[in-house]
Amino acid sequence: MTDPLVCYRCGNQYPAARQRCDCGEPLWYSTGPVESSLSLDGVSRSMWAYAPWLPVDRPAHGIADDIGGTPLHRLEVAGGNSTLYLKNEGLHPTGSFKDRGSAVGVTAIADRGVEAIATVSHGNMAMSTAACAAGTLLDCYVFVPSDIPVERIEQIGQFGATIVRVEGPYGELYERSLELESDRDVAFVNSDSPLRTAGQKTTGMEIASEFAARRELPPVPDAIVLPVSSGGHASATWNGLCELRDAGLLDRIPRLYLVQAAACAPIARAYDRGEPTVTALSPEEVGETIAYSIANADPPSGTRALTAARETEGAVLAVDDEEIRDAKNRLAREFGISVESSCATTLAAVDRLTESGELGTDEHVVLVGTGSGFKERTAGSGGSIAPTDVSIDDIASVFDDHERS
Ligand SMILES: *Cc1c(COP(=O)(O)O)cnc(C)c1O
Ligand SMILES: [Zn+2]
Repeated sequence: MTDPLVCYRCGNQYPAARQRCDCGEPLWYSTGPVESSLSLDGVSRSMWAYAPWLPVDRPAHGIADDIGGTPLHRLEVAGGNSTLYLKNEGLHPTGSFKDRGSAVGVTAIADRGVEAIATVSHGNMAMSTAACAAGTLLDCYVFVPSDIPVERIEQIGQFGATIVRVEGPYGELYERSLELESDRDVAFVNSDSPLRTAGQKTTGMEIASEFAARRELPPVPDAIVLPVSSGGHASATWNGLCELRDAGLLDRIPRLYLVQAAACAPIARAYDRGEPTVTALSPEEVGETIAYSIANADPPSGTRALTAARETEGAVLAVDDEEIRDAKNRLAREFGISVESSCATTLAAVDRLTESGELGTDEHVVLVGTGSGFKERTAGSGGSIAPTDVSIDDIASVFDDHERS
C-alpha cells in the first residue's frame, strides 16, 4: 500500500497506517493523479471498477468482492420541480452503504496480516463489518453500548463476531479505540477510518458514472443529498468526486447537501452559525429522533463534512421527525422504496430546498438512500398500519368498493 494518507485541511502527508493528522482531523487516502483507462461511459456493476482509486486490490472472494453497483432509481414526483433520483444503497448485502467501507477495510487488514478487525458501532456499521469479516480469516470484535436492544445484538451476532458490551460513556470509546490499535494486533475500522472512507467514496463515483453513461441524463447531476452523522460518508463522497475531476473524468462537482435530524444536528448548527469547525452538542442539547442512525452528537468527521458542503456550494440542513416520517411514507407508497428513517431526511430536505428556490426547477438531484428500511421495526406511519380483518366466508366483501363499472 503506497498511497499516502493526507489531511484535507493542512495537506500534511503520512506514509503509514494512521487515522488522524497531528492537527486532529481525520486523514484520507490520496491516490494522486490516476492513470486510468477507465472512462465514465459504462455503468459499473461493482465498486471495484474504481480500484485504481482504492488502497487495495479487489478481493478474490467473499461478499466484499460484490459490493457496489447499486441502482439509481428515477423518482417521478407529482407536481415536483426538480428531477429526482435515488441511489439505493439499501440493496447491499447488509442493507447499507457501510458495506463499501467494510469491504476495503477487511481486505486491507487481511492483506497486512493483522489478526483482528474491530469497530465501535451498534448499527449498520457493526453488521456490515461483521459480515465482511465473516468471509475472511480475520477475527471480528464489535464494541457496543450496554443499552443496546437485544434484536440488534442478534443482527450483528449472526455473522459470528465477538460482541463486546461496554459499560461507561460510549462517546469516549471512539477515541480510546484509536489508542488500543498502536500496541495490539488489531485494526479498528470506525466511521471515518481512512480505509472506510476510501471504500465509501465510491458511492459518489458511481453516481457520476451513471450520469456520464446514460444519454437521457445530463453529464453531471446538479446536486447530491446525503444524510450525515459522523460525516465520514459525506466527506468521502466529496473526495471521490474531486479525484474523478482531477483525473479529467468529471467537469464539475455537484453541490453537496447534507441533512441531519433536528434533534441532533451539530453540523447543521455550525453551518447556520457560519462557524469554521463543528463543536460537540452537550447531552442537554440532544433530543430523541426516529433517525437513530444519524444521531451523532460529536461527529469525528463533522468539520470535514462541513467543509465539503461549503466548498461545493451546497448546505447543511436539519429536518424534524414529522418531516422524516412523511418523507419515508412517500418513498414507500409512491415509489415502492423502503428506506431507513435516516435516509428519508433527504427527501424532506429536497422539499425545503425546492420551496426556498435553492434547488432550481430544471435541476437533476440525487438522493442517497443510505440504508434499507427493512431492518427498522417502526414503520414510517408510526407502526399504526391497520389490517382489514375478515372471516374466510366474507373475503369477497373486501372488494365491494371495486365493482366493475
Ligand atoms: C452510517 C449511516 C449514515 C451516516 O453516515 P456517516 O458516514 O456516519 O455520516 C447515514 N445513513 C445510514 C443508513 C447509515 O447507516
Ligand atoms: Zn491536518
